[in-house]
Amino acid sequence: MGLIGALLDLIYPPRCVFCHKLLEKGEGPVCEKCLRELPYTSNGGEQSGDFFSVCVAPLYYEDGVRESLLRYKFNGLSGYAQTYGALVAGCVRDRLSGRYDLVSWVPLSKKRYKERGYDQARLLAEAAARELGETAVSTLEKPRNVARQSGMGSAEKRRANISGAYRASDPALIEGKRILLVDDIVTTGATLSECARTLLQSGAGEVICAAVARKRD
Ligand SMILES: [Zn+2]
Repeated sequence: MGLIGALLDLIYPPRCVFCHKLLEKGEGPVCEKCLRELPYTSNGGEQSGDFFSVCVAPLYYEDGVRESLLRYKFNGLSGYAQTYGALVAGCVRDRLSGRYDLVSWVPLSKKRYKERGYDQARLLAEAAARELGETAVSTLEKPRNVARQSGMGSAEKRRANISGAYRASDPALIEGKRILLVDDIVTTGATLSECARTLLQSGAGEVICAAVARKRD
């Protein structure tokens, strides 16, 4: 670690990505306790949706995982993408190897991007793709900002809220391709379904998905 790294560690001592406790020297980015006790899914946490055949996620969206993802999305801790990306890549390697041609992500609207300063699903997809020795590419845009899905309640309301919100950014790129679409959290799957529907309608061959965390059934 260089001088700047050492100074940064003094000012912002490294904390565990999940429980946010101070890390011991040489430990991290996830503490030993979290490594042991995180709510890992079994069998890749596989679930299906209306327009995607499978979605995998290494973790359940609860407790420390939930708080960690909230810090990632809303408190500027974009560096978590590395840790999440490695977890997602592990899950993809185990469960979806050889089943996709392109890695992409669920995009933010321009308005949301400006507010946040980064696209959390894009950073995550790029980190996961790097781990897998690939490159993530943009396949979707979100021209219209919609109300946050997290405030929507029922699955039906979520579906209606997100309907028509995306469009394919480059139909020639996705023609006949099997796309691995990455997002941070999957709850009802309404957002992933709408993205998958848009991609299929624009010529994609198949859409499969991966997220950091999913809701427990
Ligand atoms: Zn921890």
